Amino acid sequence: MAGNNFRKVQFPRETKGFINIDPLQTGGKLTEDARKALIEWGDGYSICDFCTTGRLDEIKKPPVYDFVHEQLPKFLDCDIARVTNGAREAKFAVIHSLARSGGWVVMDSNAHYSSYVAAERAGLNVALVPNTGYPDFKITVEKFAETLEETRRKGDIVLALITYPDGNYGNIPDVRKIAEICSDYDVPVLVNGAYAVGRMPVSLKDMKADFIVGSGHKSMAASGPIGVLGMREEWGEIVLRKSKKYRNKEIEMLGCTARGATIVTLMASFPHVRERVKRWNDEVEKARYFAGKMEELGIKQLGDKPHNHDLMFFHAENLYEISKKVKKGRFFLYRELKSRKIHGIKPGLTRYFKLSIYGLSYEEVDYVINAFAEILEKYS
Ligand SMILES: *Cc1c(COP(=O)(O)O)cnc(C)c1O
Repeated sequence: MAGNNFRKVQFPRETKGFINIDPLQTGGKLTEDARKALIEWGDGYSICDFCTTGRLDEIKKPPVYDFVHEQLPKFLDCDIARVTNGAREAKFAVIHSLARSGGWVVMDSNAHYSSYVAAERAGLNVALVPNTGYPDFKITVEKFAETLEETRRKGDIVLALITYPDGNYGNIPDVRKIAEICSDYDVPVLVNGAYAVGRMPVSLKDMKADFIVGSGHKSMAASGPIGVLGMREEWGEIVLRKSKKYRNKEIEMLGCTARGATIVTLMASFPHVRERVKRWNDEVEKARYFAGKMEELGIKQLGDKPHNHDLMFFHAENLYEISKKVKKGRFFLYRELKSRKIHGIKPGLTRYFKLSIYGLSYEEVDYVINAFAEILEKYS
């Protein structure tokens, strides 16, 4: 019986103990402190124990207030911060607040699908800034300016969104220059830092942007789903406007957002996250080392070169050729890696794939490189 089965299995995690190179997961692994907090605060609505004002961000114990109103704004170098239920919810809150009927959002074509969908949900049109194509896929300042100019002729631009870095190539665009151009057009800028906030140092003010969004489960060692939203002072009264009837409830937050283990794990990991961000240069160096070794194996790294982020996209013509010949076909790479306890490249991919070695030791990095070398050797 299905029901029985459900009880019996207790959902064992098949990838436990594996080296994880899935970009989605490398920055979201819990710290020990967060793991303890998860157990302690796992019950539903646990965070509401000592809520007296009806506002999540005003809870003093555990110190949500300090986190949201002191620590986060400092970390993002912005004026006002909130936690949301994810990066996408943060984006939607901003887009929905700024939406005007028939309006447009200009975003880079490397944007995450959730940016596009958030704009659609708010009833807006989307104009995409093309990238430079193979092999760099860069979003240039010039193209961004061009698309702004073209879109301005079509209608009212309510927001520009720039993905920093994008989730395919890990490319870091010149966000500051782009923001300066947007400012010439009087268009506010949202920086989607789902792969930045919690991994690398960010500063909303240095970027000259208006909003910044991060993802707790992607890059801040939180169980999630949880996101962070930072903005400039001037946007507070628009994006964080309050209900007419429930005077302390912020409409776009639907009153309260992360309501339990999600925010406690985020806060428990935060001191570690703040420290690890300082070691970002080591991560970039490690990524470049890895990319160099892959290239020696005939596997090409696409996107920014030298690379500036742990998320890397590879083009492996040699693995693709093997997949055409072997019995297991295109699933051979997944299986070979799995047999070596490496997890994170999507089953079926051989020619193009992305990965991240964030947080791995050099020993583990070499283990992964050797795995690729062995696999290529085995089928040559
Ligand atoms: C993962 C990702 C998101 C989605 O983040 P959530 O917190 O799960 O909503 C958004 N943008 C980019 C670039 C991402 O990589």
